[in-house]
Amino acid sequence: MKIQLVKGTHDIFGQEMIYYQYIANALSALVEKYNYSKFDTPILEHASLFQRKNDSSDIVRKQMYIFNDLKNRPLTLRPECTPGVVRCLVNNNLNYDYPIKAYYLGPVFRYENPKYGTYRQFIQFGVENIGLNNVYVDIETILLSYKLLQQIKLNNLILKINSLGDLESREKYIQALKKFFAQFIQNMCDDCQERFKINPLRILDCKDLKDQKIIQNAPKITDYLNSESKNRFEKTKQMLAKLNIPYEIDENLVRGLDYYSHIVFEYQYINNKKINIGAICGGGHYDNLVSELGGPKISGVGFAFGIERIFNILKEENTLPKIDDNFDFIIMPINENNIEYCFFLNEKLKKLNYKTEVFFEKKSLKSMFHTIEKKNGKYAVIVGDNEIKNQEVIIKNMKSRKETKILIQDLEKKLIQLIKHEN
Ligand code: AMP
Repeated sequence: MKIQLVKGTHDIFGQEMIYYQYIANALSALVEKYNYSKFDTPILEHASLFQRKNDSSDIVRKQMYIFNDLKNRPLTLRPECTPGVVRCLVNNNLNYDYPIKAYYLGPVFRYENPKYGTYRQFIQFGVENIGLNNVYVDIETILLSYKLLQQIKLNNLILKINSLGDLESREKYIQALKKFFAQFIQNMCDDCQERFKINPLRILDCKDLKDQKIIQNAPKITDYLNSESKNRFEKTKQMLAKLNIPYEIDENLVRGLDYYSHIVFEYQYINNKKINIGAICGGGHYDNLVSELGGPKISGVGFAFGIERIFNILKEENTLPKIDDNFDFIIMPINENNIEYCFFLNEKLKKLNYKTEVFFEKKSLKSMFHTIEKKNGKYAVIVGDNEIKNQEVIIKNMKSRKETKILIQDLEKKLIQLIKHEN
């Protein structure tokens, strides 16, 4: 029986896998230069890690895969990685030795409507810098996200920023939103009616076109920031200008998660083909998450990229680099009784650090050459009774068709020379 993929999931293999690894390696190498170290927390967590009191985000309320295990404990497949990293710091008392600079790479799960660039299982790469409540840490984190995008040559993006202020500013703003939306709420979508009750800030997230017309005229957070929050936002903007990082202010940007305060940011893809792929990266500053999860009152800042979306855009823009994944040598036993000899030759070539493969089943020369061409092998290594008798191999360059005989005892030295000479 053929089993289909679960809706919203996808297999990754072949060329696509090579590019996923390339993207992940490029991102990891750069954050390691900034002294971030890798954290790998479980995909499976207690649902309560995400369902914290007062959490009103759609991700937590509606998009989590929650189920009871065999002992009736509510578990969830993580919908994001930040709470897992924070839980890990708190459980291991790492948060007393801050700043902690953590990065992660792994699958997350959200019950969303699948469309281009939106999956139910996707891979996030992200960082968290936890310990200091300092505007420069926020700015360095944004700068890092910007450099990561440059590193993988993702250019057509716009950075959108907003400030959600501190708790005092946000509470005042939420009161103003309540007053404003009270006039319209009965005509807004069901989601907004629910958001109105739990956290009117979330209404700004609404994608319903009719509701967006109302949202356009809603009070703006900048008018409710107290002087400390305002100064902090001003400093961020000044520093982004000094760093030549272009940005737009988006006063409706509240981000899909509930724990943010002060700076929040997102990168969106601009393209003339009108492809709406959603955000490429999102992040922000948080003040209460560590203490809510049982740690001290310390702040953090972080962001996450979606690897699928990065890959889709690089593909769309034709900017995926050429990656050479060709075989160096494919070994061809001419007769069945040459196979065992080739088995050991294959091991020998691998020891010399070449990427090799051997034909283990009897095939005609024609079909072996055909396979090598299909696999983009650079060299065929031909081994028959004569070669074994003379303790040599014939190396055939698949491009130039040139053949060279090499004695087994000279293999190491001669292969280096051959490859150097022919490239
Ligand atoms: P978020 O955790 O919602 O801030 O998302 C961070 C990043 O993850 C986004 O900017 C996207 O690149 C990616 N992402 C979020 N949701 C999805 C999804 N359903 N499918 C694919 N990528 C996603």
